[in-house]
Amino acid sequence: MEPMETTDYFESYEDLDVHKLMLQDKPRNKAYKDAIFSNKDSFKDKVVLDVGAGTGILSVFCAQAGAKTVYAVEASNIYKIAEETVKENQCENIIKVINKRIEDVVLPEKVDVVVSEWMGFYLLHEAMLDSVITARDKYLKPDGLMFPDSATLYSVPCSVPSMFEFWEDVDGVSMKHFGSKIRRKASEKPLTEVVPPEALLCDPEVVVWLDLREVTYDDIKSVKMRHVAVANKQGKYQGICLWFTCTFPSTLTEPVTLSTEPEEPFTHWKQTTIILPQSIQVEEGSPIAYDLSLSRCEENNRRYSIEVTMLDPSEVEHPEYCPCHLTKC
Ligand code: SAH
Repeated sequence: MEPMETTDYFESYEDLDVHKLMLQDKPRNKAYKDAIFSNKDSFKDKVVLDVGAGTGILSVFCAQAGAKTVYAVEASNIYKIAEETVKENQCENIIKVINKRIEDVVLPEKVDVVVSEWMGFYLLHEAMLDSVITARDKYLKPDGLMFPDSATLYSVPCSVPSMFEFWEDVDGVSMKHFGSKIRRKASEKPLTEVVPPEALLCDPEVVVWLDLREVTYDDIKSVKMRHVAVANKQGKYQGICLWFTCTFPSTLTEPVTLSTEPEEPFTHWKQTTIILPQSIQVEEGSPIAYDLSLSRCEENNRRYSIEVTMLDPSEVEHPEYCPCHLTKC
């Protein structure tokens, strides 16, 4: 697969603050650390490839778990920090930091494990999974392991009071006109904001489940789902909330899961919400139906265009399409 638009992308990863945000994300770090440490047998004396090593934390986890060699491949200039991390943790004999894009790397051997933290907002943003697929297909031994080895994207209708009710009374001043402008802007870019669990109106539905041992470039070009749901409470239907989970391989224990769902502790991914043009009052038991699609943008392959089509639930068999909303790339 031809690597995509890259210069701006890798420059954005030179920013220390971006890495600070990830390193301070405890649930994220804990999931990787628990997954690696509870599977030490899979790492002991093994060869590991860390795709997009960043500041080097995951490579050090692997070395601490007993890996013989870790190839820490990092395309951006942040690789210099990874080198410092390796030294500071006395892992120079194990971790080899390589400042290249994974697409351009030539490793001297196949690896037992590919570890990578590639997930973007709503899982697929940034499209770094392409690079992990490239690494897997080029370097993973046939019986090798992927960390993580599965990922699931979920979707559910929700209320978004910060985009609607908030503007009705800003310290005693009605600012609805401003709210509608903010919402118009939000239609160009999904909102990355924490969604409290009580804002969810239905049970979530899986948008896509990816088996990372087998997923192909084609599988993630575009994903589509139809959700016919029933509101489990009264509320205002104002958006579609997206989040993801990842699971790691496990031989001995329950698989470790990294979850970004609203019920779980905060992560830097928060949740992603597609804002609807207007608020719809729903009662407990009301049906809600919509189609959701995410497809690669032509002008920037690292982005997805997300489209929500609201359906008349009584006509879902032969739906009247009403393309109410399109978020641009
Ligand atoms: N593994 C680190 C950083 C994760 S962020 C951590 O968990 O903290 C993803 C990193 O992957 C970024 O530093 C980015 O520059 C790097 N990256 C993305 N695509 C890459 C590619 N094709 N080749 C090499 N590095 C890549």
